[in-house]
Amino acid sequence: MTKQTLTQLEQHELFLTRHIGPDAQQQQGMLNYVGAESLDDLMNQIVPESIRINRDLNIGRANGEAEGLDYIRNVANKNQVFKSYIGMGYYPTIVPNVVLRNVLENPGWYTAYTPYQPEIAQGRLEAILNFQQVSMDLTGLDLASASLLDEATAAAEAMALAKRVSKAKKANIFFVADDLFPQTLDVVKTRAECFGFDVIVGPAADAVNHELFGALFQYTNKEGQIHDYTELFAELKQKKAVISVAADIMSLVLLKSPGSMGADVVFGSAQRFGVPMGYGGPHAAFFVTRDAYKRSMPGRIIGLSQDTRGNRALRMAMQTREQHIRREKANSNICTAQVLLANMASFYAVFHGPQGLKTIASRINRFTDILALGLSSKGVAAQNSAWFDTLTFESNELAFIKTRALNSEINLRIDSDARFGVSLDETTTREDITQLFDVILGEDHGLDVAALDEQVMNAKEASIPPSLQRDDAILTHPTFNRYQSETEMMRYIKRLENKDLALNHSMISLGSCTMKLNAVAEMLPISWPEFANMHPFCPLEQAQGYTQLIGELSDWLVEITGYDAVCMQPNSGAQGEYAGLLAIQKYHESRGEAHRNVCLIPQSAHGTNPASAQLAGMKVVVTACDNEGNIDLDDLRAKAKEVAENLSCIMITYPSTHGVYEEAVREICDIIHQHGGQVYLDGANMNAQVGITSPGFIGADVSHLNLHKTFAIPHGGGGPGMGPIGIKSHLAPFVAGHKLIKPGSESDNNGAVSAAPFGSAGILPISYMYIRLLGSKGLKASTQTAILNANYVTKKLSEHYPVLFTGRNDRVAHECILDLRPLKEASGVTEMDIAKRLNDYGFHAPTMSFPVAGTLMIEPTESESQVELDRFIEAMINIRQEITQVEAGEWPVDNNPLSNAPHTLADIIDPEFDARPYNRELAAFPTSAVKANKFWPTVNRIDDVFGDRNLFCACVPIEDYQ
Ligand SMILES: *Cc1c(COP(=O)(O)O)cnc(C)c1O
Repeated sequence: MTKQTLTQLEQHELFLTRHIGPDAQQQQGMLNYVGAESLDDLMNQIVPESIRINRDLNIGRANGEAEGLDYIRNVANKNQVFKSYIGMGYYPTIVPNVVLRNVLENPGWYTAYTPYQPEIAQGRLEAILNFQQVSMDLTGLDLASASLLDEATAAAEAMALAKRVSKAKKANIFFVADDLFPQTLDVVKTRAECFGFDVIVGPAADAVNHELFGALFQYTNKEGQIHDYTELFAELKQKKAVISVAADIMSLVLLKSPGSMGADVVFGSAQRFGVPMGYGGPHAAFFVTRDAYKRSMPGRIIGLSQDTRGNRALRMAMQTREQHIRREKANSNICTAQVLLANMASFYAVFHGPQGLKTIASRINRFTDILALGLSSKGVAAQNSAWFDTLTFESNELAFIKTRALNSEINLRIDSDARFGVSLDETTTREDITQLFDVILGEDHGLDVAALDEQVMNAKEASIPPSLQRDDAILTHPTFNRYQSETEMMRYIKRLENKDLALNHSMISLGSCTMKLNAVAEMLPISWPEFANMHPFCPLEQAQGYTQLIGELSDWLVEITGYDAVCMQPNSGAQGEYAGLLAIQKYHESRGEAHRNVCLIPQSAHGTNPASAQLAGMKVVVTACDNEGNIDLDDLRAKAKEVAENLSCIMITYPSTHGVYEEAVREICDIIHQHGGQVYLDGANMNAQVGITSPGFIGADVSHLNLHKTFAIPHGGGGPGMGPIGIKSHLAPFVAGHKLIKPGSESDNNGAVSAAPFGSAGILPISYMYIRLLGSKGLKASTQTAILNANYVTKKLSEHYPVLFTGRNDRVAHECILDLRPLKEASGVTEMDIAKRLNDYGFHAPTMSFPVAGTLMIEPTESESQVELDRFIEAMINIRQEITQVEAGEWPVDNNPLSNAPHTLADIIDPEFDARPYNRELAAFPTSAVKANKFWPTVNRIDDVFGDRNLFCACVPIEDYQ
């Protein structure tokens, strides 16, 4: 036996070999096949010399999994988890363990993609539908969205909706009640500035004194007071104002719904329904409005339709409102939202049911009553006259109270030197109340919780006045009344999971989405209390672990992107675009060039680009692409010159959305800079850049990074995500700030783009671990292998399908586009047929018709092994042969395995199947690989048009089941 050195033996610990699919031998075989000697040789063939960085990243060596976990454990320990009574939209909560283990920590849920292929996504579609039902029941309005990014961005969306639908067409004022959470106001103001709206902030009752198109109120307000707004809303309606209410989801269980008071839009955070605070997120925002405003709704909506058998089936409704179709005319730029967290919240409601929720909400309210009574009996009377869970106090003793609170590891809400607040929550206990008495009153108060409880029971007046108590039933649908035992709940979650194809079944080759491994060692830390249970507005000195983690991660991202600084606030790629464009606008302003407002966007751009430019108040000018898929330089030069006076920036994607490294990218940057513009480089395709090139090196000024693509945060079925932006130093002074938390020297002039200072900080440990476990060499190897895998698949498939675009040496970058239009022409088989037929073979379809209609875009990523790639290739080749049979007239165009795909069990047991021109085995078990591991789509092909014509976006009435 040949002996190995210790260094060689230690290699086995490297995470790299777990993250990257093909082993060294397979890689060599694949290199031989594509015609390259080594990975470096392949890079030389593909990546233009002028943009190649020929040095190693300075990230450091890779950690083993155990070593990396030890390290981050130490980082986590530097966070001090105080008991939080801060409130302000973030509350301690208890994640039901059955949801924690079976949803949040289950790859069947967290690795799925946005349900663009609904036939293999009925499980999460049902869970999101439940979320919509919860949202509707609690708010008292008709039509809910499938989640937005956070409460503050939802407020900005409510304002935009109000402008779209208000009949007060001449009005330009959006009124905001002055008792709104400050972080929400900040995000609203930022957005209003872009749109040119006038925001007026004042006491709620003042709203009627303005000529306004919309108004926004908080219920319960930032100090915990609850108001009956029925009359005020009626008056505002007279003025044709659209009324929005930011509401607390837990309070709505007991309170009269804002819908029944006359509100037109109700939104808020669903965090306290079993989603940890996570130092700011991720959490789902709910957003509900009137059916009449459905065309103006931001974000995704799940609705009912039917499949070819006439069975009920769910899918995303009215997608024609969305950015990927309407581009700069879209209602909003939302792409990635918060689906995993919306599902957690909906499962929380399903598990507790209406009774359980009422018990939880009533207990919170009771403890608040007890606290208020005890304190007032000692002369510390709450400022509130009515409340649900939050009280505000004035005290000259606040300095002492603060000291005692700190000593007891408690955080209160501190408003000023003499004003403070307390918000209670689901986790509050009798001992906590006693401790709060100790802290607020000092030790010798002699108060007894049980005795106070008796007084509250006997009190004549309630903290929630009768007129504000909810008197209608909530969550009456059977789904919320069946699964209160853990066994039933576990099985319900499993039943839904079984309907969905996620990465734990097979590769998901969605181009532009980078569906790579989300390793367990990367995921583990997000459940640790030291990361999960931190309030985003806790004092910075308690969050030293987060500060270190965010600092190190930012430094690494600076190194990887070639920029000078990183802003962590945007909580999706699209929000990063918006934040980056705002920085560009502020930069121009600072130079006296505020008039620069034209954004050039190539026609191949992702839909979020034009939608974000529109949000940032820019004018979009589309530039052409040539036949090779590259930006048409002549057209670009001409347009840049034409608009030079007003040129703000260009938004490009690199490698291009066509999956090639454009040779002319430096020239493109130069053209824009020459005309005084800035270069926004969409960083969604960083997986083809890390360690090879970088946006900063190429010459761009700002980019967002999709941490949920390249940096291993799972897609969660449509979110969470993180979209931090990297910037060159001249833009650094203009990135988003935060009114409440100022870790650095941020300017106060810069508005916020998210509610929390570091966006969805709770998932940053995933990207942190990804980078730490791979190190400099592993990151580069990942990029190289992603490119190898893509070129391997491309070459194999190019013998059967035309590849639309290739770069130098006929190669692609990390993804490739198959052109199906000639095939469709010849056979009548559509890209949709192929996508659905792949389901029968156990695969998710690649990206369909983006960036070119009639195509499929395949991105295998580095994590897929050669075995899996070959399985996918086999399926695609088989499908090509099936198309040939249609082409040859062996099967009718409208009755063949492709046009009838996907096939369900119901098809297979249907006696009428015998009439089909192909057999059951071919339908359901077309290859031996499928026989060994069959995935059954649970519905047949879904009729989108039927669903949009008969819009229904709530849980199905129980009669329909029978
Ligand atoms: C995914 C993607 C985006 C948008 O990112 P979200 O996080 O979904 O908002 C933008 N541009 C490109 C090219 C993308 O692939």
